[in-house]
Amino acid sequence: MKNQLIAKQRKMFRFFFLIVSISAFVSASPMLRAQDSQDILYIGGQPIQRGEESKIIFDIARLPTHTELGLPVYVYRAEKAGPVLLITATIHGDEVNGLEIIRRMMKSKTIRPEKGTVIAVPIVNAYGFLFFSRHLPDGKDLNRSFPGSKRGSLARQIAYLLMEEVLPHADYGIDLHTGGARRHNYPQVRSDFEDPESIVLAAAFSPPLIVASTPIDKTFRKEAAIRKKPILVYEAGETLRLNEMAVQEGIDGILRTMHFLGMIDSAPQPNQSIWIRKRRWIRASEAGFFHSSMQTGSYVTKNQYLGFLSDPYGNFENQIHAPANGYILGINNMPVVHKGDALFHLGQEESYDATEP
Ligand SMILES: [Zn+2]
Repeated sequence: MKNQLIAKQRKMFRFFFLIVSISAFVSASPMLRAQDSQDILYIGGQPIQRGEESKIIFDIARLPTHTELGLPVYVYRAEKAGPVLLITATIHGDEVNGLEIIRRMMKSKTIRPEKGTVIAVPIVNAYGFLFFSRHLPDGKDLNRSFPGSKRGSLARQIAYLLMEEVLPHADYGIDLHTGGARRHNYPQVRSDFEDPESIVLAAAFSPPLIVASTPIDKTFRKEAAIRKKPILVYEAGETLRLNEMAVQEGIDGILRTMHFLGMIDSAPQPNQSIWIRKRRWIRASEAGFFHSSMQTGSYVTKNQYLGFLSDPYGNFENQIHAPANGYILGINNMPVVHKGDALFHLGQEESYDATEP
């Protein structure tokens, strides 16, 4: 018991020390690095001058119908030098909110930086996008296929292209996702709390929730981190559904990040982000119909009623209660559930505000 307490105190001290060092780091260096030093940037062999906008289409493959499939990459260069920010969406083909975030920023021209360069890839997984699917046609998950290879599966080839042709030009990245399957996520950024740069960027994005998450092997985020390119993962809304709050929070977060990096002069007001260190799934105790009474983003207290599971033939109705205090990070919107299916994603916050210096 005593050992546990000491371990906990040590952990708290370590985290406190990390936050103090980050505050010093941020105040000393608002623009952490800037790669955009060349007058001409070559992407896919195409020259892009300062002040220019360009669209580069990388060939991916040819469909069985002989239709050529390309990967469009949009580049926005300011006259003045600054950092290079890469914004990617639809790595999971059915997660379409990110595409709408980029589209609106293009339309409003807010995607154009005043300093530096923005590289946007609105549809990374064109196959999944066309077939309303998370995966490639062979069932591969692109975000478990990094760093990829030149001659591997389609997923690995697309991952390779992104890693070799696009990522090397970027200093930072923001990768836009939604909850998987039918799960709706309240707008949140996934951040590695062991990595100071990841925390700094998450704080700059300032979403409603910042959730501790160690990068998963073979994801874009993890492989980019290995190459010293920090990538923020933004998760908001659910698959195949546009959600206004998810889109707006995404746009605001990107603008705040650009402002923090010195790429634009002003940005929307930050949120009072809640830092979530621990999270758990509340799962179905048996198969049946799931009825939620909650909304994502709500704060719940231990034993609070959240909804119920019913038998489709009316044989039972089992109430679901919160096992602990916390925030509802995500909810499964699929009413038909099997035993063990994820229903509510519950997050517990830090006992202090990590954004405070
Ligand atoms: Zn995703």
